[in-house]
Amino acid sequence: MKKIIVAIDGHSSCGKSTMAKHLSLKTGYTYIDTGAMYRAVTLFCIRNGIFITDGIDLASLSKEIKKLHISFKTDNNGKQLTLLNGEVVEKQIRGMDVSGKVSHVAAIDFVREAMVVLQRNMGKNRGVVMDGRDIGTVVFPDAELKVFVTASDEIRAKRRYNEMISKGEKVNFTDILYNVRERDYIDSNRKISPLKLAEGALLFDNSNMTIEEQDEWLFTQFERAIAK
Ligand code: C5P
Repeated sequence: MKKIIVAIDGHSSCGKSTMAKHLSLKTGYTYIDTGAMYRAVTLFCIRNGIFITDGIDLASLSKEIKKLHISFKTDNNGKQLTLLNGEVVEKQIRGMDVSGKVSHVAAIDFVREAMVVLQRNMGKNRGVVMDGRDIGTVVFPDAELKVFVTASDEIRAKRRYNEMISKGEKVNFTDILYNVRERDYIDSNRKISPLKLAEGALLFDNSNMTIEEQDEWLFTQFERAIAK
């Protein structure tokens, strides 16, 4: 059967990765969480003193980025894990520390160039569901199915808050709401590959939808796309 690329872009914490993961399980496609890749680069910067008083040490990062190895593997329970230079960093990249800095790192041109090369390589045989901010606009503008997901700021922050609390993290709702809004602002206003609706993308607001409803909606779009 024909294999396609499913590009899922949208605002922070709107459930893109849940939709993408569920679709990949149902279709046997590979799920690629491109946000995790920018988060892994950010963790590397935190650990290696690349955040300096007045910003980011671009000279060091441009040298280091060429040596960084970012990959994914699946654990025994089918959960996807992100690896940074061979180390599983899934938990470390999800904290507020990384969330507060990642959009600054993701706005750097050479960081994006390096990640886009990896992402295009991961999707070269198609059969992937990729979520992020620039998948339908830059990484795979020829994707057969493009979706732009959004939901109200408060609902997105609440979902992220509940998710982190359920994992035992000590977080504050106001900090999360601030982070969601700040990331959306930076991601939508950066010069390189800003978050925007890709040509031909379907706009999907899941504010008042259950996970089952959004999965069903996406699967219907997938069936339409492969039938074309
Ligand atoms: O998807 P997630 O929220 O984990 O992404 C973290 C951050 O990585 C985003 O806020 C954005 O700054 C950046 N990102 C990006 N391009 C992508 C995926 C994520 O700029 N394709």
